[in-house]
Amino acid sequence: MERREIEQLVRTHMEQKLEAEGKREYIIAANWKMNMSAKETRAFLKELSDTNIPEYLNIILFPPFPYLPAAQKMLRYEAVTYGAQDVAEKDKGAYTGEVSAAMLADCGCSYTLIGHSERRAYYGETSDIVARKASKALEYGIVPVICIGETLEERRSGAYKEVLKGQVDAAAKVCQEKLAQCIIAYEPVWAIGTGVIPTTKEIEETHRYIHDVLASYDKHAGAKFRILYGGSVNENNVRDIAPVPFVDGFLIGGASLKVESFKNIINLLSLDGCL
Ligand code: PEP
Repeated sequence: MERREIEQLVRTHMEQKLEAEGKREYIIAANWKMNMSAKETRAFLKELSDTNIPEYLNIILFPPFPYLPAAQKMLRYEAVTYGAQDVAEKDKGAYTGEVSAAMLADCGCSYTLIGHSERRAYYGETSDIVARKASKALEYGIVPVICIGETLEERRSGAYKEVLKGQVDAAAKVCQEKLAQCIIAYEPVWAIGTGVIPTTKEIEETHRYIHDVLASYDKHAGAKFRILYGGSVNENNVRDIAPVPFVDGFLIGGASLKVESFKNIINLLSLDGCL
């Protein structure tokens, strides 16, 4: 059995155990984007390796492609899993620069980000492309972390619900009965890297709405849907957002690049009564 399959079994077992205890898995995902060097990656993981991570926390690191295999050799245990920042929608062939789901599976990836707002904005990724990528990842046993989010204009005009529904609908139509296997990362575009975040009331309202849209496709999956919040999360605001209903974890950019901040976030979420 591959390391990735063992890891998935361990996580499934963990989820069942937590469910039986009335607890839930909480995800802390680190999107490093196009940052870090090989040396910085090694130093980060060395520093992270002595952190005490409670079993309900699932730390998912998303380093740049070239550092994935080395990172996994350096640090990998039940609480730390890995993902890629993107995946191709095709299986294989003449698609220069693309990395396939099969390759990610070979490299031991359990997750992949898809449709991050930077990919939607700079590389023309539409919700249909995102949906096809998600479906391809699922085909190879990789959990897609589908990023959705509205712009400031869309938030201000009140059109954000329609926008979010459109993004979820596209994924739901393609992923169908596997929708509950996907993770949704709600990342308002106006909150990414800006230091501005929605109020906890807005986060709750939006996550609840996304949950309801997901549940309209699969009534039985209910509590199985996982929705992460992303956008300017840091050690100063993480404790306020963590207990918000329908928030199952975080996707963190800037604050995941400095190991001290990232460890502080883990430590804060490890405190009794935080979640
Ligand atoms: C992101 O880009 O996914 C993100 C959440 O970034 P930041 O935490 O820096 O806002």
